[in-house]
Amino acid sequence: MAMKTDIEIARAANKLPIQEIGAKLNIPSEHLLPFGHDKAKVSSDFIKAQADKPNGHLVLVTAINPTPAGEGKTTTTVGLGDALNLIGKKAAVCIREASLGPCFGMKGGAAGGGNAQIVPMEEMNLHFTGDFHAITSAHNLLSAMIDNHIYWGNKLEIDTRRVTWRRVMDMNDRALRQITASLGGVANGFPREAGFDITVASEVMAILCLATDLKDLERRLGAIIVAYRRDRSPIYARDLKADGAMTVLLAQAMQPNLVQTLENNPAFVHGGPFANIAHGCNSVIATQTALKLADYVVTEAGFGADLGAEKFLDIKCRKAGLAPEAVVIVATVRAMKMNGGVAKSDLGPENVEAVKKGCPNLGRHIQNIKKFGVPAVVAINHFVSDTDAEIAAVQDYVKTMGAEAIVCRHWADGGAGAEALAKKVVEIVESGAAQYAPLYPDEMPLFTKIETIAKEIYHADEVLADKKIRNQLQEWEKAGYGHLPICMAKTQYSFTTDPNRRGAPTGHSVPVREVRLAAGAGFVVVICGEIMTMPGLPSVPAAETIRFNDAGEIEGLS
Ligand code: ADP
Ligand code: MG
Repeated sequence: MAMKTDIEIARAANKLPIQEIGAKLNIPSEHLLPFGHDKAKVSSDFIKAQADKPNGHLVLVTAINPTPAGEGKTTTTVGLGDALNLIGKKAAVCIREASLGPCFGMKGGAAGGGNAQIVPMEEMNLHFTGDFHAITSAHNLLSAMIDNHIYWGNKLEIDTRRVTWRRVMDMNDRALRQITASLGGVANGFPREAGFDITVASEVMAILCLATDLKDLERRLGAIIVAYRRDRSPIYARDLKADGAMTVLLAQAMQPNLVQTLENNPAFVHGGPFANIAHGCNSVIATQTALKLADYVVTEAGFGADLGAEKFLDIKCRKAGLAPEAVVIVATVRAMKMNGGVAKSDLGPENVEAVKKGCPNLGRHIQNIKKFGVPAVVAINHFVSDTDAEIAAVQDYVKTMGAEAIVCRHWADGGAGAEALAKKVVEIVESGAAQYAPLYPDEMPLFTKIETIAKEIYHADEVLADKKIRNQLQEWEKAGYGHLPICMAKTQYSFTTDPNRRGAPTGHSVPVREVRLAAGAGFVVVICGEIMTMPGLPSVPAAETIRFNDAGEIEGLS
């Protein structure tokens, strides 16, 4: 029997009215703000009233370094959530919202896959509840106010060559990466170089995802650095008096969205910061809300564990006071083979040797997670092409690393396919073994923090940064930003900064190209290599196949 496509499965879902999903978490219907029948925001008043309740158990789903073979973190997050519900736990999942860029570009949907998906899948991948529009508007309001301030006399003495705040749009459009703004004469302002990033790369997105309430949101928005004067002193969003109006624009978007899995279990889908120049996980407010309402909360971090889990643990958990009790590392036989040197076109036939050769990448991630004091279990996301011998090779290897690898068939079988994983997660949580601690303390100097991540997580020998970069970090320390965590922006494909070096390399160096201060979000972005903040569309964009069929159903969303 041929497996249906993701969208065919999603379309056939037997969804419950969102009030019934809310009721599973004891959210009274007057505190659900419905968008149609199958989506709702949870009211901020209700969220506030939960503050004194105890937290449920937090479980992170992360993965090996991604390969073009695909790993299935979201799919596993959803499958594990459904499995926990099946074994009698009150569980919710928390994932990110989707960006239109990859949706019409090449990555496809972000709602999971197979029989482990979140629905309504089409809406989640398209406009959803409008949060990204709100973020785009708030961001661009600040952009407009900067140019307007310059136009009306520039009292703040903004150096127009040093405006760091760009504009954003939720679309892959390389034509807008670098532009000249204010052309066309005196009435249009002072021409200057400008550009667009994709909305998920906006600092406003990162801020919305880290803010704990509206007050905190407003304070963080005010702290955004938008430009510098000729004397290099920073100009903040609050200097332009933009923070109040931006907060007003974002108030509704701050309330987390509740939807459901194919098996009618609660799922929060809220916020979606980039995983490179930002921290790559859903909002703090969604995770915290879920923890108040469910016994188990399963959440996903973007990219592989070297980036996603590290930032989840060192930025989000540190700042929000969250303490995960188990980490699931998703691996696939196919990705092990690719790490072992097999090309994507040759993944079909059994190749136990290549699997064995690729396993050290997984082993490195298992070792790394231990450094945060949280026990890890490996989920082998089962593909139909996997052979028993290949699976056994991964399991044997993981055993030598002091962990267990559990075969999961949630993609084919839904929650029932991940019951063994769910039982293991419960066992880990109930053992009380987790003692989460971030990798480095707040007080550590910024450059030493970067070195700590490079050496402990990437297993590099050294960090290379010229004097200009080191001086910049010291200046920020003097200005009171030394306590901030680091947000590494490097390739997700390798522990090194070279996307082609798979496996578990050692002895490499990590060259830092640029550092940026996200003063509102509250982290220092360290850029290693080329990082694209406005992607382009591929030669054949997914958009070409997205359309309504004769039955009026959307086709082409993967
Ligand atoms: P990630 O969150 O790691 O980016 P996703 O969970 O979104 O990955 O999955 C990416 C794609 O891979 C989805 O289209 C999904 O349907 C597919 N996929 C995931 N797991 C499997 C599997 N076990 N077999 C076949 N396809 C899968
Ligand atoms: Mg995902």
